[in-house]
Amino acid sequence: MRKNYTYPAVKGMRDVFPPEASLYQRLESRARKLLACYGCGEIRTPLLEHARLFERGVGQGTDIVNKEMFFVPSKDQAEDGRKENARQMVLRPEATASVVRAYIEHEMDKISPGVLRYYYIGPMFRYERPQRGRLRQFTQIGVEVLGSALPMTDAEVIIMLEDFLSSLGLQRLTFLLNAVGCPRCRPGYIRKLQVYIGGRQSQLCGDCHLRLDKNPLRVFDCKQPLCRELMARAPVVQDDLCADCAAHHAAVLNLLDRAGIKYQRDARLMRGLDYYTRTVFEVTSSDLGAQNAVAAGGRYDNLVAELGGPPTPAIGWSLGMERILEILPREPDKSGKPFDIYVVSPGGDAIRTFFKVMALRRQGLRIGLEHEPRSVKAMMKRADRLGARWALWAASENPEKVEIKNMATGEQISLGWDDLPRVVGK
Ligand SMILES: [Zn+2]
Ligand SMILES: [Zn+2]
Repeated sequence: MRKNYTYPAVKGMRDVFPPEASLYQRLESRARKLLACYGCGEIRTPLLEHARLFERGVGQGTDIVNKEMFFVPSKDQAEDGRKENARQMVLRPEATASVVRAYIEHEMDKISPGVLRYYYIGPMFRYERPQRGRLRQFTQIGVEVLGSALPMTDAEVIIMLEDFLSSLGLQRLTFLLNAVGCPRCRPGYIRKLQVYIGGRQSQLCGDCHLRLDKNPLRVFDCKQPLCRELMARAPVVQDDLCADCAAHHAAVLNLLDRAGIKYQRDARLMRGLDYYTRTVFEVTSSDLGAQNAVAAGGRYDNLVAELGGPPTPAIGWSLGMERILEILPREPDKSGKPFDIYVVSPGGDAIRTFFKVMALRRQGLRIGLEHEPRSVKAMMKRADRLGARWALWAASENPEKVEIKNMATGEQISLGWDDLPRVVGK
């Protein structure tokens, strides 16, 4: 990295060069293919949203909303013309609230009644202290299924995620699963939790004191050792689930068992967002450090109504591509095919060669051509390093002829430019 550079990238933002970019492409194309098999279509929503969407959707008091929103100053005036009431915009910190907003705004429940399955791929932004594996701009792949309250849908989205992760060859993953109740049964549990924590408040960290006021469930997300210790003995929501939530949970577990999905039940997995109901899950990798979650999701049966839409049950997940890339087995990259031909000498008429190469590229051949070639020896080395299949010399004496050398066998052929697609292009 260049030191003391005047125009560096913004903190927490990364540049991705080839060949690393091809890893992203590979993940993306695999996801698109697999998710299409599950009937998911791609949804693309804007990177910029009104802050209040997340304040309402994700929840006041969550770290995402309180500490991590990436505000963008806007010149838009508020309706009353007062600057301090101008709309606050943020770079989206997550996409579930955006997908739900789009679903409601476009009346998708009327346009396309029934269950809707979407996936998205794109950057998310969180303004946080950049630390290992924590970028301010990171990339998520996510799925949202709207319109079904059935346990079968929970099982389907979890199997979908498992399918995707195992298709990548990821090992040492753990699926954690919990049921967090619904508006009918959770208030009773929260009161119980408040009583438990209330008597032990002095042991909590400062953040948790704030969490306690807004939503005591968030104390489960704290990573401070003392808070964790306290919560390890806290009452769990399982004991307070209503009959419907308990039956739903049992049905989901049964379907996952029958599908052969290996999971662990974790009664303290609460997921730090307001919108979750019933099923929540998280996938962790023992190949990652402290920030070990690679994917997470859950059911959010009330979010559509909360954001002003018709009551619509829904469930989804998202995964962080950068986390996955950290643990992805580095198999040789087959998607980025090497050059079919590498031109090691352009011959006597470099411009003529330039146009011949252009014509062959249009026919689908991958051809490497330097506009400022060095010695043939240096170029041969380069062809070899790039894994080119054939090296090519344009003949100086006859502009229609070329020599090619098979880089694997050493076989040499003299032929015309026009014969190349037939000979090389298989
Ligand atoms: Zn319930
Ligand atoms: Zn704490």
